[in-house]
Amino acid sequence: MSAPCTQPVGRFAPTPSGRLHLGNLLCALLSYLSARSAGGRFLLRIEDVDVPRCPKRLSDQCIADLEYLGFSWDEPPLFQSERTAIYQRYFDRLDDLGLIYPCFCTRAQLHAAQAPNLGDREPVYAGTCAALTPEEIAEHAKTRRPAMRMRMPDETVSFTDRHYGPFSENLARETGDFIIRRSDGLFGYQMAAVVDDALSGVTEVVRGRDILASTPRQIHLLRTLGFSVPQYAHIPLLMDSEGRRLAKRDKDLSLDELSKRYTPQQLLGMLAYTCGVLNEWRSVTLEELTRVFDWKNVKTQDMRLPAELTKRE
Ligand SMILES: [Zn+2]
Repeated sequence: MSAPCTQPVGRFAPTPSGRLHLGNLLCALLSYLSARSAGGRFLLRIEDVDVPRCPKRLSDQCIADLEYLGFSWDEPPLFQSERTAIYQRYFDRLDDLGLIYPCFCTRAQLHAAQAPNLGDREPVYAGTCAALTPEEIAEHAKTRRPAMRMRMPDETVSFTDRHYGPFSENLARETGDFIIRRSDGLFGYQMAAVVDDALSGVTEVVRGRDILASTPRQIHLLRTLGFSVPQYAHIPLLMDSEGRRLAKRDKDLSLDELSKRYTPQQLLGMLAYTCGVLNEWRSVTLEELTRVFDWKNVKTQDMRLPAELTKRE
């Protein structure tokens, strides 16, 4: 028996700690095309849960940039900064299950305890505070406000990425107990994203390959909270024409600069060409791209921007 046919729901969820760069816009484009080409809905969520780093003017700018390129969404944008009470409710549920404990480690202690040679991966927490007694907790709490971590079981989570295929990770060994609520009281990215995806009915998540390894913990968190798991599609990273990762310092690749030289339709065409959705760089609308979009054409190797984008006249 096959599951009942449901309408896909996709989303783009930028963190407005700076201006959107072309890599973010490519992620917006592929999330949008994936959902809309399948007749689905598309949502926008502003991940400004880290309020001090994400001022309102950057959220506004982010929305304006997306609108400039022609994006639209089916519901008003969700702002994580307004949803703390919701995250707290699900945090309490994890706490009731005995899965949360306070971590008093300083940044220096965490750094000292981590294994060397992690490459791209974030360090696995050594479990220093996993078994503190109530007395020890009370003593530490006199001088330091703890972060709250979620205990990871010795289980392997496997899923099939739509674009990269099967992926597995052992939660205890490779993920480690991760931070659900920070010591400053703000909720961690994983918690907020998972709760929002679930409550918004998101069925597909498109995002950068650089965070592929955080997917198993999100799946585990979703299952623990009784939510269903969306389909994940990770996408290659966008490099400049010389193969370097894009950075905020690339001012000439900012939308401010590019919009002086190209129309929104030319910029969409450039992104679609760079990721393989179009086989030439030409002016194109989102409607046309929605008609021709096929995941099969999206590259799996990291993508380079056309050289002429950075060429000076
Ligand atoms: Zn700790």
